[in-house]
Amino acid sequence: QRPVPSDVTISRSCVPIPIECLAEEIGLFSDEVELYGRTKAKVQLKTIDRLQAQPDGKYVVVTGITPTPLGEGKSTTTIGLVQALGAHLKLNAFACVRQPSQGPTFGIKGGAAGGGYSQVIPMEEFNLHLTGDIHAITAANNLVAAAIDARMFHEATQSDKALFNRLVPLTGGQRKFSPVQINRLEKLGIKKTDPSTLTEEEITHFVRLDIDPESITWQRVLDTNDRFLRKITIGQSPTEKGFTRTAQFDITVASEIMAVLALTTSLADMKEKLAKMVVATSRSGQPVTTEDLGVCGALTVLMRDAIKPNLMQTLEGNPVFVHAGPFANIAHGNSSILADKIALKLVGPQGFVVTEAGFGADIGMEKFFNIKCRYSGLKPHVVVLVATVRALKMHGGGPTVTAGTPLPKEYIEENLALLEAGCSNMRKQVENAQLFGVPVVVAVNAFKTDTKAELDLICKLAKAAGAFDAVHCSHWADGGTGAVDLARAVQKAADLPSSFKFLYGIELPIVDKIRIIAQKIYGADDIELLPEAQHKVDLYSKQGFACLPICMAKTHLSLSHDAEKKGVPTGFVLPIRDIRASVGAGFLYPLVGTMPTIPGLPTRPCFYDIDLDTESGEVLGLF
Ligand code: ADP
Repeated sequence: QRPVPSDVTISRSCVPIPIECLAEEIGLFSDEVELYGRTKAKVQLKTIDRLQAQPDGKYVVVTGITPTPLGEGKSTTTIGLVQALGAHLKLNAFACVRQPSQGPTFGIKGGAAGGGYSQVIPMEEFNLHLTGDIHAITAANNLVAAAIDARMFHEATQSDKALFNRLVPLTGGQRKFSPVQINRLEKLGIKKTDPSTLTEEEITHFVRLDIDPESITWQRVLDTNDRFLRKITIGQSPTEKGFTRTAQFDITVASEIMAVLALTTSLADMKEKLAKMVVATSRSGQPVTTEDLGVCGALTVLMRDAIKPNLMQTLEGNPVFVHAGPFANIAHGNSSILADKIALKLVGPQGFVVTEAGFGADIGMEKFFNIKCRYSGLKPHVVVLVATVRALKMHGGGPTVTAGTPLPKEYIEENLALLEAGCSNMRKQVENAQLFGVPVVVAVNAFKTDTKAELDLICKLAKAAGAFDAVHCSHWADGGTGAVDLARAVQKAADLPSSFKFLYGIELPIVDKIRIIAQKIYGADDIELLPEAQHKVDLYSKQGFACLPICMAKTHLSLSHDAEKKGVPTGFVLPIRDIRASVGAGFLYPLVGTMPTIPGLPTRPCFYDIDLDTESGEVLGLF
């Protein structure tokens, strides 16, 4: 239909297949599916065991060139491609996407369900609550935060003996360590299981985590854009006896528990990861974990439903897993390994699983390969690199593009010179993908103001840059039909022999790994470690975390650390301000500049438009 109606009008115009019918259609057994209403279901992990002997399908990752702040259509292309592979080429095809944070839904517009005729439906279910996974993460995260402050308070106000008597209470005339306490004793090198045999020194050692308040890296979280929680003082009630400290809230999707959910490979693995999360350092320099706090078992209980991927569908009735949505800067910005694994089994060897990596190829794709694929053991077959005329013109020197303001005329009228200049960014991102030995198909996401000459020029230059193929597509306006050429190109590329390889070995020193990413992917001359970063390199090396992969927290708006530098910046040294550790999730994240971890609300937030029609029960004003 022209003009293309609003996303929500399109979403509503389509009657979703009852989710239990879709589940049956894609080969799930009824006892593997847990229904959440008519349009969403959770899929149990035992499905992987049942299909163990089934060979995996082809694994495709959708990434993009360095985008404008408007987004260049990675989510839309992920859905459009699956619709084309499924409904049009009649192949089994599955999309695996992230669950969006609810914060931005009420703040600045921006759902993540795709758009136009390539969407996940129903979009209001997708964008709000889903099946409660983000709420579960909020609950689990804040239980850890509460445990940290309560523990410091109790340690500060009680003697060793009193602490011991409470931590190992008398039950039936006997004191017994709980399993998590036995793990802590082992960590401390105390080889005793009978509490009555501990020496005074051992008791002190055991009961005092002795957290250095300055070292706490664990924050409280909320899935609301509440900027006034960026810096707060906690403990102000007289009941806390003056134990106040400065703390902060992050948005829930920035919680390490979200990254754990995305990177875990089984329930047992999640339990282990949740126990390994480091929340602070003790005054003697030891890492303090959620296991030391005794809270790791409770976290696993809170997360036991969230670990199951959520099944939804595209506008054209293809299956979609919506599962996990970690931040793309301080975390790795990719949906869950478990969803991909189940989907790869369900589609079978001739089928396709298409997943999306957040931000441009220099960030999301690099992390997809070096972090997600390293932990999953899965080998990707094809990279789809989304490019748009508008973003490439911006890289060629076009005026600044800002969300909420009309595009300058350079972007609406044909301008081949500007476009050609900007294709340097696409060339670099194609080369970045090739560093991993995976064939690249460039998908030029066509907008209505683009001309055929412009779209053809991008395809020509993409092939010249080494892409296996490059096609333009109109899935936003036309649905799956608009991405049939893309689907054919992806199908051909997937048949090439894979020579997938990582960019660096995890055993390399921290600094070397950061330098490899900075030089090979961003094009930096070198890196510069600021004092705090150097301190962390020393600390993490001493604490035994040096062998974790690296998750760079860098702006997505430039290949460099300066968002204003477009195209392919050269001659720069990448400053590393600080380094943090997500030990449970399994990565170190160097901070290149300051990263906001909870957005704020604008003067006129989206919630002004959102309402419920009490007659029909419809949600109004959501995109
Ligand atoms: P990304 O995943 O790269 O951030 P999205 O797929 O979310 O990008 O798209 C960003 C926005 O642009 C969405 O609102 C989407 O509906 C819109 N969009 C994507 N492709 C097109 C297109 N070809 N024409 C018009 N709007 C589009």
